[in-house]
Amino acid sequence: MSFIQISDVNKIYNGSQERVNALNGVSLEIQQGEFVAVMGHSGSGKSTLLSMLGGLSHPTSGTVIVDGIDVYSLNAEQRADFRREYVGFVFQSFQLIPYLTVQQNVLLPLVISGYSEAQQNELAQAVLEKVGLVQKRNRLPDQLSGGEQERVAIARALVNKPPLLLADEPTGNLDTATGEQIMKMFLTLNEEGQTIIMVTHNKENEKFAGRCITIRDGKVILAA
Ligand code: ADP
Ligand code: MG
Repeated sequence: MSFIQISDVNKIYNGSQERVNALNGVSLEIQQGEFVAVMGHSGSGKSTLLSMLGGLSHPTSGTVIVDGIDVYSLNAEQRADFRREYVGFVFQSFQLIPYLTVQQNVLLPLVISGYSEAQQNELAQAVLEKVGLVQKRNRLPDQLSGGEQERVAIARALVNKPPLLLADEPTGNLDTATGEQIMKMFLTLNEEGQTIIMVTHNKENEKFAGRCITIRDGKVILAA
């Protein structure tokens, strides 16, 4: 069985003005250790698909199975546990807490997990080494460049070693050279075994991924 199995998923948003069919019969399988790029125009359903994979958006119909877990048959509390155990999220706007240091931001996902302070420091050290920010651990986010802030967001997503890294347009706010550095970091993480699913509308990023899926109007039109 595949690590991720999405079967005939539909998502309809019922707005006050209109119904939007954001995903329309999407079926996909993704194996552990893959680096998948999800491409498509703005509004095609990429973010909806990603949040559905991460247990954040209930499909209108269809199933999402991750590591044998039927994510939307879980109750809210079980699904929160699923997210904590399985998923690291990197959002386009890095969503760092401005008054917390780099290290404190990175440790946020561990606050409710019951790790001792020594264990937390050890995990922070490991992940900050991975993204090359050990020296800057005590800075505040606004004392960092955009690329460094992105690396903090990636470190935070990875600190509890989730099997699945989901990134929504991780280079959307970065200049080309910085974006390429981030892509190389993803490639290295993937080579170390991290499963990554990355939404991007930058054609340049495609070459870093092992597989590219294109979505148009809520449908998968190309799954190479
Ligand atoms: P993408 O990430 O590819 O730009 P999205 O998944 O964000 O696309 O959106 C797909 C479609 O669903 C768009 O038409 C968008 O306007 C709509 N949509 C997304 N989120 C919501 C929401 N919370 N309520 C209503 N419509 C939404
Ligand atoms: Mg989006």
